[in-house]
This record gives sequence, structure tokens and C-alpha cells, in this order.
Amino acid sequence: MIDLNNIVRPSILRLNPYSCARDEFKGESGIFLDANENPYGSLNRYPDPYQAKLKSAISEVKGIPVERIFLGNGSDEIIDLCFRAFCTPGVDKALIFPPTYGMYEVSAAINDVDVIKVKLDKDFQINAVTVNKITDKALKLIFICSPNNPTGNSMREEDIISVLSSFEGIVVVDEAYIDFSGKRSLSRLIDKYNNLVVMQTFSKAMGRAAIRVGMAFTSPEIVSLFNKIKPPYNISSINQAAAIEKLKNFSKSREQVERIIKERERLIAKLEKMSFVRKVYQSDSNFILVNVDDANKLYNFLISRNIIVRNRHSIVENCIRIT
Ligand code: PMP
Repeated sequence: MIDLNNIVRPSILRLNPYSCARDEFKGESGIFLDANENPYGSLNRYPDPYQAKLKSAISEVKGIPVERIFLGNGSDEIIDLCFRAFCTPGVDKALIFPPTYGMYEVSAAINDVDVIKVKLDKDFQINAVTVNKITDKALKLIFICSPNNPTGNSMREEDIISVLSSFEGIVVVDEAYIDFSGKRSLSRLIDKYNNLVVMQTFSKAMGRAAIRVGMAFTSPEIVSLFNKIKPPYNISSINQAAAIEKLKNFSKSREQVERIIKERERLIAKLEKMSFVRKVYQSDSNFILVNVDDANKLYNFLISRNIIVRNRHSIVENCIRIT
């Protein structure tokens, strides 16, 4: 357990948060004259700022207590909140393991936070020993993407735990693709490590990218901190309702995931036989990283056939990522 007061950005510790109308009165019925809404129509009221019904549905499915759940407008909002909560612009730093999800670096730049890059090794695994040797006091945040985008593999659990237990800052484990991996979520460790933030999303296995709901499973202190900073009504009523609806049909998502995994393995086997393919990386996600003779040429050829893949040549030489 670490003392979070030593990591939280001082201006955020001092912050007196905005108190919205629905912070003051929490009941569900009454004559609402508190939020300057239009009394007519059906979508006229502000949504629940803390998404109580949705959190309780998530809690049931994931087995995580509601007070340890924070919801963002996509995981991308949660990534941004991590910077705003823990990093003083121009002073603090974050660490990432390239090649990885691009938003960590973009969010860092938006928040004027320097990024330390420790490259993944040749098997696309993190090097916990190198990270644990870093003594830079300005380092506040470490992002570990597992399964990693764009490489598709899961990180070794013992390496993540080694970083978690020796780092006196926040470790964000991004599990956007966990449901395609067959691995256990690290959310089971959130009561042991109060500096762990595990992110999941409705955008991938749940098939609801359009509704922009990202989840963070973490310590109640970090949930309160994020609540203090987020815009009051960050998830619309329509999107909260759509997420609840999705959870009612959770078994259907499981079936879809099984089907996607089978298709993934079928596609890997086919790709491996193609003449222009040098290597197909094994995948724990819903995409495949493929090393080809000439990624730019293949990308343009596929575009000419109206097939859009992700050209990752700029970050992993001659690789394309296929969903
Ligand atoms: N994390 C990773 C690793 C991703 O690949 C993505 C989306 N491509 C996200 C987070 C963003 O997810 P969301 O749609 O919840 O913002």
C-alpha cells in the first residue's frame, strides 16, 4: 500500500470540486426544480453523474464492488484523467512500453507530461528489471497494455506484479482486449495494491464502441479522485441505458467472443501460408499483427479493394494490423 497523497497532483488535492445539482439531492422522485432543465419531453433530465444503476450491473457481472468502479466516456477519458490526477504539467513523467496504444503518449503531450519509453523486448514483453531500476522521482504513472495493442500478446503476469510492487506511483493496466485472451484479469489485485488501476471497456468484446463507456477498477480513493475531476455528466443517459441493456445479454457477447477467437485462429493459419507474409504474431486479442514484405504496398493494395486495415509500419517495421 502506498500513500496516495504523495502522488496526487497538489492542485487536485487542493481542488474544491464543482457540485452539480444531482450531488445535492440524490433521490429519484420529486418535483425537480434544481437543475434548470426543461420540464417537457423524455430526455430532458441530466443523467446520473455517478451511474449507480450501471455500476451495480457491472459489479454483478465482474464481481467488483461498486465503490471500486469508475466509469469514463470511453477508456480514453480515463487515460486523460490519470494524467490530470497524478501528473503536474511540465514537471512529472509517465512511462510507456512501445510499440503500444498511441493514446498514452498523445494524452501525455496534451497534458504537457514527458514520457519515458522502455521498448518491449523481441518477444514484445516488458522488461520489469529495467523499470524497477528507474529512480526518477518525477515518474508518477506507468501504462501497461495487456493484451497489447498493436502486438496482440499478453504481458507476463509476474512482470506486471513485479512493477506494481516496487513502483511507488500509479500502474495502469489496460485490459481493453482481455476477454479475447482467456487470461484472468488483474482486477483481482485491486484490494492488495491501492496504486493499481485496471481499465476495461465496452468497445471491444462487449461490441458497444459507439456508446463510449470505459471502466476503471481501482481503489476507492482513486475512484473519488477521478469523480472529483471528471465533467459532472460524463456519460449520457442513452449510453448508460445501452450499457445496462448490453449486460443483460452478456451471454451473447461471450458467444461472439468465442466466434471471433475461432476466426482469429483460422485467419492466422491462412495468413501463414501466404507468400508475402514473413511472420504472423500470435494474438490474445481481436486483431492480428502481420509482418509482410512491404506493408505500405499491401496497405495501398487493400485500400484499392476497399479493405481497410491499420498500417503499423511507422511503429513496427513492415507490419499491418488486421481486426
Ligand atoms: N485501450 C486500448 C489498448 C485500445 O486499443 C483502445 C481503442 N483502440 C482503447 C483503450 C480505447 O478504448 P475506448 O473505446 O474505451 O476509449
